[in-house]
Amino acid sequence: MRHICILGSTGSIGESTLDVVALHPDLFQITALTANTQVTKLAKQCHQFRPAIAVVKDAQHARHLKELLQGLPTQVLHGPEGLIEAIMHTDVDTVMAAIVGAAGLLPTLEAAKAGKRILLANKESLVMSGQILMDTIARSGAELLPIDSEHNAIFQCLPTSGNMQAVEELLLTASGGPFLDRPLATLDAITPEQACAHPNWVMGKKISVDSATMMNKGLELIEAMWLFNMPEDKIQIVIHPQSVIHSLVRYTDGSLLAQLGAPDMRTPIAYGLGWPHRIASGVKKLDMLTLNSLHFRAPDLQLFPGIRLARSAAKTKGTAPAILNAANEVAVEHFLQKRIRYTQIIPTVDQVLQKIPTKSVDDLETVLEADRYARLLANDIIQGYP
Ligand code: NAD
Ligand code: MG
Repeated sequence: MRHICILGSTGSIGESTLDVVALHPDLFQITALTANTQVTKLAKQCHQFRPAIAVVKDAQHARHLKELLQGLPTQVLHGPEGLIEAIMHTDVDTVMAAIVGAAGLLPTLEAAKAGKRILLANKESLVMSGQILMDTIARSGAELLPIDSEHNAIFQCLPTSGNMQAVEELLLTASGGPFLDRPLATLDAITPEQACAHPNWVMGKKISVDSATMMNKGLELIEAMWLFNMPEDKIQIVIHPQSVIHSLVRYTDGSLLAQLGAPDMRTPIAYGLGWPHRIASGVKKLDMLTLNSLHFRAPDLQLFPGIRLARSAAKTKGTAPAILNAANEVAVEHFLQKRIRYTQIIPTVDQVLQKIPTKSVDDLETVLEADRYARLLANDIIQGYP
C-alpha cells in the first residue's frame, strides 16, 4: 500500500490522479490533498477519499473547508506551512507534484529533501532550479518519476540499466497546439478562449496557453536536460499533431524507441503511481487500425519564437531558465486576463531575458531572487504597453 499526498488535487493532473487511485483501493491510500482556492471541489474529494490532511491557501479558505468537512477525521491546514506538513506526514511515501507554476518549487523541494517518491508534473520547478532539485534528490535518495507525458515516454524508452552511453538523442514530440496552421498575420486576434482550446489534451489554463505558444515545449526541453542529463543540442523537437507518439529515444545502433498511447494523462500518472509495476489506468485503448497516418514536421520558429528563447536560456544556464519561466508566467497571466495580446506574450519574455543579466546558481535564494526580479520587470514592461 502506498500513501499519497497530491499537491494540487483540484487541478487537471490532480483529478486524473484521483481517477487512477480510485481504481486501486487495494494499492493506494490518499493521505493528503491540497488546493489553492477551490474549496468546494476539495471538500468533495475529501468526502470520497478521507485524507488525514487537507490544505488550502489561507485561513479564510480553511474556515470554509472545515465547515464543509464536519464529521470527517480530516485535519484542515493552510498556507505554505500547511503544504509542508502534508508532505512531511510520516505516512506519506509518494508526492504527486501537480501545483502549477513557480508556486510548486518549494513544496517539490521539501518532498525531495524528505526523500519521498516524487511524481513530477510541475515542470516549472525543474526549469527554475534543476541543479538544486537534482542535487537534493541525489543527497536524500528521493525517487523522481516524470509525469509530463513526453518525459514519461522517454523514461519508458531509456535503457533499464541506466547506462546512457548508447543513447544518441532524445526526440520530444509536440502537437503544435491549436495554432499550428494559423497564418502569422492573424495571431494578433487570438483570444484566451481560443488559446485554451487544445485539440488533443484537456489541461489547466496556464499550460494550455504555453502549448499554444509552444513555450511549453521550450520548458519541456529544459526539463528533459535535467531529468536525463542531456545537453540541449541532443534534444530535438518534432511536431506530431496526432499526439499518439509521446516521445522517442534514438540509439547509436539506429533504433528509435517510442512510446505510443491515447493522449490521456492517466497513462503516465498510472505509470508513476505503479512503478516499477504496470497498473490499469482506465485509459481507452489505442486502436492502431484507426490511425491512418501519423505526421511529423519541424516547428516553425517564426510562428513559435518561444522555442528559440527557451533553447537560448537552456544554453546560457544559470538563472536564465528561471527568468524565462517567471516572465512567461506573468505574461500568460496578463494574456488570460485580456490585458495583453497573444502576440505580446513571447516578446515580453524576450525583453525580460535581455534586460536581466544571468547569474550562476549557487543557492536557492539566487533562483528566488531572479524569479522575483523577472516578475517585477515583466509587469513593468506590460504596464508600459499602449
Ligand atoms: P491546473 O491549473 O489544472 O491545476 C493547478 C493546481 O495547483 C490546482 O489544484 C490549484 O489549486 C493548485 N495551485 C495553483 N496555484 C497554487 C498556489 N499558489 N499554491 C498552491 N496550490 C496552487 O494545472 P494542471 O494542468 O493540472 O497542471 C499542473 C502542473 O502539471 C503544471 O506544472 C503543468 O505544467 C504540469 N502538467 C500538466 C499536464 C496536463 O495535462 N494538465 C501535462 C503535463 C504537465
Ligand atoms: Mg508535456
